[in-house]
Amino acid sequence: MNDSDVHTSKMSSDINSLFDIGLERELTIYPSSSNTASQLGIGCDRRLVFAQTRGTESQKPSVNLQKIYDYGNLIGDYVQTRLRKDGFTVLENQRAFRDRSLNLSAKIDCMIKHERLGNRAVLCEIKSFSPFEFDKYNRAEDFLQSNKHYYRSYYTQLQTYLYLLSLERQEFEEWGLLLLFNKNTASLKGIVFKRDDQHIEESVLKRCEQINYYVKNNLLPEAEYCESACPECPFNHICDVGNVCNADELKESDTFLVDEFDLVEAIKRKEELKESYKQYMEADDFIKWTMKMYKEDKGKSHFLLGSYDVRIKTISHKKYKVPDEIKKQYEVVSSYDKILIKKLENDEMKKRTNKEVNTEVTKKEPSDEDIAIIQKELDKKKKLIDDILSYREYFYTELSESEIISELIMKDDEELKTILLGAKYSFGKREKEDVKE
Ligand code: SF4
Repeated sequence: MNDSDVHTSKMSSDINSLFDIGLERELTIYPSSSNTASQLGIGCDRRLVFAQTRGTESQKPSVNLQKIYDYGNLIGDYVQTRLRKDGFTVLENQRAFRDRSLNLSAKIDCMIKHERLGNRAVLCEIKSFSPFEFDKYNRAEDFLQSNKHYYRSYYTQLQTYLYLLSLERQEFEEWGLLLLFNKNTASLKGIVFKRDDQHIEESVLKRCEQINYYVKNNLLPEAEYCESACPECPFNHICDVGNVCNADELKESDTFLVDEFDLVEAIKRKEELKESYKQYMEADDFIKWTMKMYKEDKGKSHFLLGSYDVRIKTISHKKYKVPDEIKKQYEVVSSYDKILIKKLENDEMKKRTNKEVNTEVTKKEPSDEDIAIIQKELDKKKKLIDDILSYREYFYTELSESEIISELIMKDDEELKTILLGAKYSFGKREKEDVKE
């Protein structure tokens, strides 16, 4: 690197260090004392109760999350400008609505009017959307059935708006529009949400009454753990279920200091791969969904794309629909261990362990004891290979190594099984692989 490169690289790093300072200063929380349309679609009652009773303890959004909110607001303004250019009249921008009897409030994005839509002002909610998800959502039901909790909540949000608008106008508001903005292509798509009275009854009116009851009687409802929603919940630090997401709340007596280089390296690598894994999943989702659409559209299950051969295999499986009252009789609570990893700084580590700990774990030279264990393992593997070779010679077999190992396991020889296990051949894994073949 020459002097000019060094200077340029320092300038870039100086400029980059200036970003986000303003945003960080502005991060704030907005405690709410009512049920809100944008929150009613959240699955967990406890979170909604916390929002009203302990709103001031809410955690501030992260800088990255705040950037996404701000970007969403900018897109909202941009879409309204485009709508005006397209001949729409945009009204009641950010207008607030309220139903005091339910302690329910909402703020709509806007109402829009167009002569081709009968010149009646129609509810309009604008959402910026991932390009990978954009094509998958075309009907209101797609949101209701979405496997992503935040997209499901849009359905309740729109229905809440329709309910509040109907109340205000004193006549049924039959439909509203969700406008999706593709963050990649800047294209727009309007999806009609018809008024769904059953959903309004169950998920808006009854839910508000339920939350109001908890708040009024100072009750804390059951927590509903959700792997994707809890880590994002601003109250996970005060929730006994959600705080598994927050390692700070763990007791010191539950902690054990592990000094294992390979494990630390694996965690670092996992962190490095996180973003590309997310991109992998998004691309995977997009490919699967698009190919299924092709299958539906063209009635074929075999496709050629560029240099790729894509086949769609239909796999059928049986399902049993058991009535709820019978299901209840066999209900059991099961639990599983979730592994949560958070990077600690040096001083945090010191606070937890009461001593100076080097967070950079280095690879240790193996001790004589370690070398003896490794040697023993190698001896076992050597014996295993000898067994395989003699078996192959004895039976003049052309079997592959894995087939011979399966044969050896079938011999039910305890000593051999111990060697195989010691050599890290898992019986369970091998059996599964065999079934697959
Ligand atoms: S952390 Fe999870 S379970 Fe707890 S209140 Fe939040 S969403 Fe509900």
